[in-house]
Amino acid sequence: VSTTRFVAVLGPPAVGKSTVTASLVARTGARVFRLREFVRCVRNKPDVNQRLFTTDDPLGWLGDGAVAFMLQAAFLDGQFPESPTVVLENFPGSDVQARLLAIIMDRLAARLDLVELVAPQDVLMARRRMRRVCSTCEPDPLGDPHRPARPGRCDPARCRDCGGELRRRPSDHPVRFAARLSRFHERIPAIRAAAEELALPFHTVDASTDAATCFRHIAKLLGSCGTSACSPLLALTKGVT
Ligand SMILES: [Zn+2]
Repeated sequence: VSTTRFVAVLGPPAVGKSTVTASLVARTGARVFRLREFVRCVRNKPDVNQRLFTTDDPLGWLGDGAVAFMLQAAFLDGQFPESPTVVLENFPGSDVQARLLAIIMDRLAARLDLVELVAPQDVLMARRRMRRVCSTCEPDPLGDPHRPARPGRCDPARCRDCGGELRRRPSDHPVRFAARLSRFHERIPAIRAAAEELALPFHTVDASTDAATCFRHIAKLLGSCGTSACSPLLALTKGVT
C-alpha cells in the first residue's frame, strides 16, 4: 500500500491540531507523521551524521538539512510505515519545509492538502489555559507529552483513562507559548504563498467552533477533491454529512 494522500494540519498553538489529527486517524485509519517523534527514530542510527541534528534555535527547531534528511528517510527510503493517507501534524513549519514536501509529493505522485486551522487569539488563550496532558497515557522520553488528555468526570484534575494526575504541557508555559505563537504568525504567510506558487490545495478552516463542527468542515473539504486518492476520505464524508 503506497501513500497517495497527505494532509498537513497547520495552525497556531492550542488551535486544536491534535484533536483534528486524532479525528482523521479515527475516521480514516490514517497514520500521523510528527517531526518531533520521527527524529528519534532516525537520529540514533549508526551512520547518521549527528551534526545535522544540532540546533541553537530557541524553540529547538531543526535546520532545513535535517528536515530534508528526515523527509527522504521517512517517505522515499521507506522508514515511515506506508499507509494510504498520512496526516502531517504541525508540518510544514516554513515555506522551505513546504517546498521540500512538494518534492516528495512529486516523487510519490501523491496529493497534499494543507489545512490551516484558524481561531481568534482569545480562543487560543482560553484553550491554552484549559489544556492538560497525561504523562502516564503518553509516556514521553523528552518529558513533553502533548496530546490532549481527557479530564475525569468526577475529578477534572485527574485523567479519565488512567486516573493519573494531569498537568500542563511545558511548552504551554506563557513565555514559550507566546514564542511559538509569534513564530507561527511570522511563518504562515510564506507557507500560504509557497502553497499557492506550488499549486498545493490550501484550505482555511474556522476552528473556533466545537471540535465536531470543525471536523465536519474538514471532512467535506478533503472529501471533494474528485480523484481516486480521495476514497478513504470520501467514505468519511458520507458518515458526517
Ligand atoms: Zn492517563
